[in-house]
Amino acid sequence: MFEEISQGSSMPIKCRRCKAENAEVYLSHLNLNLCPECFMLLTERRVKHTIDAYKMLAKNDRVGIAVSGGKDSSTLAYILNSLFDKIDMVLIYIDLGVPDYSKHCLERVEALAEMLDKELIVYSLEGEMGFKIGDFKQTVYGRKICSACGTIKRYLLNKIAYDLGLTKIATGHNLDDTLEALFNFYLEGNVEAMLRLKPYLPRTHPKFVPKIKPLIGLTDFECLLYAGYRKLPTRTVECQFSRGSRMQRRKELLNMIAEKIPNFKHSFINSHFKRILPNLEASLGSREIKIYECPTCGMPTSLEGMPCHFCKLTKTLRPQLTQRSL
Ligand SMILES: [Zn+2]
Ligand SMILES: [Zn+2]
Repeated sequence: MFEEISQGSSMPIKCRRCKAENAEVYLSHLNLNLCPECFMLLTERRVKHTIDAYKMLAKNDRVGIAVSGGKDSSTLAYILNSLFDKIDMVLIYIDLGVPDYSKHCLERVEALAEMLDKELIVYSLEGEMGFKIGDFKQTVYGRKICSACGTIKRYLLNKIAYDLGLTKIATGHNLDDTLEALFNFYLEGNVEAMLRLKPYLPRTHPKFVPKIKPLIGLTDFECLLYAGYRKLPTRTVECQFSRGSRMQRRKELLNMIAEKIPNFKHSFINSHFKRILPNLEASLGSREIKIYECPTCGMPTSLEGMPCHFCKLTKTLRPQLTQRSL
């Protein structure tokens, strides 16, 4: 499934870095055999390199780390906490009200917050807004529940961080997530979305909190290994709505390509960010993406004179809402 293989051979393999004979990890894109300790060290250095290269963090930042209970966001929180212990950070968890799953994830992020000794902010969708993500099953968004969920999470994360006066939002999007999204944008010819997908999205509006993706250079597999070696609390169940989703199917397809073409993922991402995106920006740069304010909620949106995507979505739930009106 992955291009890298965790080796289980009985012949001891030497770690390229420290020469210890317990190199369990093989990273094919770097052609490196590493022991667990050196793998973790290298992973942390690569994240630090990404953060420095894109100037993602400054020492007076107040960072909200979006945590979900998954391997990526747990890895992100752990690495940021160990690399930047002087920077103010809080963990933010959005409880989407998915039966069994959300409670299980909450327990995992609570354990993570305790392990890192960080404050955890829990936002309950049902408690605050009066609906659960599963309610979209009954609306026009039923078949696209994962994309509705993405819109809800993006909006709320920004709003929570803005209300708390945070200066950055860090998310655990990794190389595979980015590749999957880009692949889809290429298929759709969605240039606007390509221009918005960046490792570091700066402030484009006073109510827009800048977003950073420090794990953008790590694969799913590397995050899984890192979280496993560090024994980070991570969920053991999948969301019932994401099973068999288009996003998952596209990821499987991309993994199949990577099996045939080693380095496919890294070269795709590198050519996009180093060659294609700068050219797109150079030719379209003068046409800056305009940001408006939503007439319903007042938050920033790319839609002119219309409710933002979040307000449009939640409006579809109106007939079912019993608790609080939106
Ligand atoms: Zn080593
Ligand atoms: Zn709105």
